[in-house]
Amino acid sequence: MMGTSYRSNRHTDLDTLSEAVIAYAADRIRSAPPLDKPLTEAELVERVGQTITPGGLGGTEAMRIFADDLAPSCLSTDHPRYLSFIPCAPSDAASMFDVVVGASSIYGGSWLEGSGAVYAENLALRWIADLAGMPAGAGGVFTSGGTIGNLSALVAARHTARSRAETGVRPTLLVSTEGAHSSIKSAAEVMDAEFVGVPLDENWRLTGANLRSVLLERGPENVFAVVATAGTTNFGVIDDLASVGEVCREFGIWFHVDGAYGGAGLAAPSIRDRYAGVEHCDSFIVDPHKWLFAPYDCCALLYRDPALARAAHTQKAGYLDVLTEAPEWNPTDYSIGLTRRARGLPFWFSLTVNGTDAYTAAIEHTLNIARYAEDEVARRPYLELVRERDLTVVVFRRLGWAAADYHRWSDELLGDEFAFVVPTTHAGETLARFAIVNPETSEGDIRAILDTMA
Ligand SMILES: *Cc1c(COP(=O)(O)O)cnc(C)c1O
Repeated sequence: MMGTSYRSNRHTDLDTLSEAVIAYAADRIRSAPPLDKPLTEAELVERVGQTITPGGLGGTEAMRIFADDLAPSCLSTDHPRYLSFIPCAPSDAASMFDVVVGASSIYGGSWLEGSGAVYAENLALRWIADLAGMPAGAGGVFTSGGTIGNLSALVAARHTARSRAETGVRPTLLVSTEGAHSSIKSAAEVMDAEFVGVPLDENWRLTGANLRSVLLERGPENVFAVVATAGTTNFGVIDDLASVGEVCREFGIWFHVDGAYGGAGLAAPSIRDRYAGVEHCDSFIVDPHKWLFAPYDCCALLYRDPALARAAHTQKAGYLDVLTEAPEWNPTDYSIGLTRRARGLPFWFSLTVNGTDAYTAAIEHTLNIARYAEDEVARRPYLELVRERDLTVVVFRRLGWAAADYHRWSDELLGDEFAFVVPTTHAGETLARFAIVNPETSEGDIRAILDTMA
């Protein structure tokens, strides 16, 4: 790595590197890889050992190590029988373009440095804003994930509430529900704010009526944001966004909608009415790396009035003045973080290649597979649904099983590299849970997994 040849070294000319790396990437995207399974650290030490040496191993050997020993110990989260947590199922176009983004040294933080990339990312953000019915002035940024997206939105909310509060009032309360994602409580912790949980209604939803009584009890002037969830992670429950938004407007409180997983359902006409009221949000997130077929890591964060977010997030420094004093759109001004990868580009590319109808069709398809899974559970006498499904999460119990049975079953499925389905818990009970976002997950996959529980 010396002088003019810093892009290669004595072991590795560029042809060899591109053959090793680009060919691997293209092959991985085109083929259907096995599920794979984790290794212990001791196993990895034995198989891989040290790879970082004074002289370098060269591209062919480094790639061999990755392909033979490292990659097979990383689960393929895009495997059709990976149904744990929320899977990732990037489109071929999105995955391939991620390679291009990696190769292009684009600085995605400012218009000055990355105008074309920022322009394209903003087209993708606009598609989401339109799905949510947000006004023409809405805008935002792609962050690394829902956690940072939620935190950034809530920091903007608090900044806004403080600047509007009467003297002597410091709004410190963040109001949401126990069904909200763990990242909301984590944001409260980071912000030294107090998390206030509103009781859910009989359908496990946050409603305006319950919100209203908690606000009156705690004093609405002390609250800087209300967070509703559009698709809880554990069950896919969508809060009553219309009544919650109405109460937020009544009290002038920032209304944030966390659609990290479920926000993608806005593109599915069959369920669009469940999101009624989302258009009143002050901020909104959805993770394209969950149910919108983009690779990690990618969260779309949108604000109704981006100027409020800019006031909270713009970093000021002498060396940044050329950027912060320019009128153009600088993505970095809308979230925590300064330097950023143009991580919305793979998503933009795939939308551009495939068209939005393909997204609608793929999301509707996964909803159909989830309905099939629900029907199969209902049909089998040894299984029982826990709650009717809203989106593509199906939670059910195996009659007669204790927690240890679920864990043994799940470990066996992974040990055989057959499926990855970890149990969840709800109200102290261990349960089985499918999260279906991969259009390649088939009815046959669902049947095959359920058969293993008989
Ligand atoms: C996944 C998820 C998050 C967190 O997103 P990350 O991308 O994992 O940081 C937040 N909210 C909800 C509802 C989620 O499902």
